[in-house]
Amino acid sequence: MSSKKKSKRSAKKTSYTPRPKGLAGVRPDKALGQNFLIDEDTISTIVSESGVTKDTLVLEIGPGTGALTLPLAEAAGRVIAVELDEGMIKGLRVKTFSLGNVEIIHQDILETDIKSLASEAMAEHGLKELRIIGNLPYYITTPIIMKLLESDTGATSITVMMQKEVADRIAAEPGTRASGAITYPVHYYARVSEIAFVPKECFYPVPKVDSAVLRLDLRDEPAVKVKDEDLMMRCVKAGFSMRRKTLLNSLTALGYQDKQILSKALISAGIDPTRRAETLTLEEFAKLSDNLQEE
Ligand code: SAM
Repeated sequence: MSSKKKSKRSAKKTSYTPRPKGLAGVRPDKALGQNFLIDEDTISTIVSESGVTKDTLVLEIGPGTGALTLPLAEAAGRVIAVELDEGMIKGLRVKTFSLGNVEIIHQDILETDIKSLASEAMAEHGLKELRIIGNLPYYITTPIIMKLLESDTGATSITVMMQKEVADRIAAEPGTRASGAITYPVHYYARVSEIAFVPKECFYPVPKVDSAVLRLDLRDEPAVKVKDEDLMMRCVKAGFSMRRKTLLNSLTALGYQDKQILSKALISAGIDPTRRAETLTLEEFAKLSDNLQEE
């Protein structure tokens, strides 16, 4: 090999990203979705746009090395941070000890009883509201959001970072092509706003995808009235289980053997059975579910 060729090869760029200050000794675990936030502007935006005050109890999901935990503890009355990775816990406790208002819990957020945890802490510390915040582990974004919405935590808002593509799906208007099964429950329970676009370079290690932060403000009353919430959510799931098919076909996933029942429920809700799930508004899903409930 000529020396010219050799030098060209050694000059080839690698994808190595230097470890940012503050993350020394940290070995990110991909399986736990560990991409740590290293961009100060994004951290400030999340804290300032999440509505946190000294009257707030923050429930943080996946604090990791504490990039958000420390600034949140300064802005809030108290922070309870739930982290699954035992390796992160000790360092985080050391970092936050002197603040005196941070509690680190070693637990899976999907198994955490947020409602009792929060109500006890709020009563004990005289706090007025709960806000849930986190840079989510992306491998369980949807289960976490569904749990937060369905478990009646009493939270005022949920401010979470997720993959941009998922954020777009959630923020889409129900009944538009961009909507998906997750769009409907989120809009049913909350008002959605995107508070930041976060390019992948804002994380260490750099992930493959960009991210976005959404704020979900929980409604006092759901967006539409429906007789059986659970049945409406099952209609949405069934409708999107085969999103390219007509509603008459996709709704068979609900278990109805007789398509006549589905057809009748759709028509009396004013919905053409040949439409697809993504064209239905929340109101239409509610009407459809009310009609099916009467069958
Ligand atoms: N908040 C940190 C930051 O912004 O740099 C870390 C965010 S990182 C994307 C996701 C964090 O969630 C990791 O610390 C990971 O260990 C934690 N995690 C993963 N699965 C979890 C679970 N089921 N329950 C609680 N935390 C979890």
